Amino acid sequence: MSAGRLRFLRAGEKAPKAPAFRLVFEGGAQLVLTEAGAKKRAGVWLLGPEAAEEQVAHLGPEALGLGAERLGEILARDSRRLHPLLRDQRALAGIGRAWSNEILHRARLSPFALSTQLGADEVARLAAAIDEELSRGLELRERGASNERTYRVHGRLGQPCYVCGTTLARVDYEEHTVLYCPRCQTGGRTLKDRRLSRLLR
Ligand SMILES: [Zn+2]
Repeated sequence: MSAGRLRFLRAGEKAPKAPAFRLVFEGGAQLVLTEAGAKKRAGVWLLGPEAAEEQVAHLGPEALGLGAERLGEILARDSRRLHPLLRDQRALAGIGRAWSNEILHRARLSPFALSTQLGADEVARLAAAIDEELSRGLELRERGASNERTYRVHGRLGQPCYVCGTTLARVDYEEHTVLYCPRCQTGGRTLKDRRLSRLLR
């Protein structure tokens, strides 16, 4: 899925009328998939154990609890921009566009910094930010929190940074947006677009 959301609803909890997918358990609990936006990409497959194994074979290690040492190894493998690298499920699994924004903001790192140019302290900061943000997100989502309550950077263009109050900025791509704080993350620089951002780290 891209803008999809999978939720577990207890018996009797209010469910959306026309979800993309609904699995009802004995006793009335439900697993419900909804998808926002005009582009529908979410899908559900029923797989046997072997096919399921095949589906996840290409995934990198789970991002939550990865630790600085293993993260350092992943970052050192190729020279890549941090935002797309964090979202690459083959490198590490579990981080999408929104959490890439949240994590890099927490780590005070530019989304366009190169993975091979981070110092040891920055790698440690990024590893800590992954754990802090994913734990925070899981806890909120398990309580059914909305996007609005969960994200502090993602989707908040033009709003003040929750750390320093600077107006959050973005770089637009065709299908996603990179949100960041020009003061906390890029040394005061605003990244205009892909071409310019290549020059700025
Ligand atoms: Zn800030």
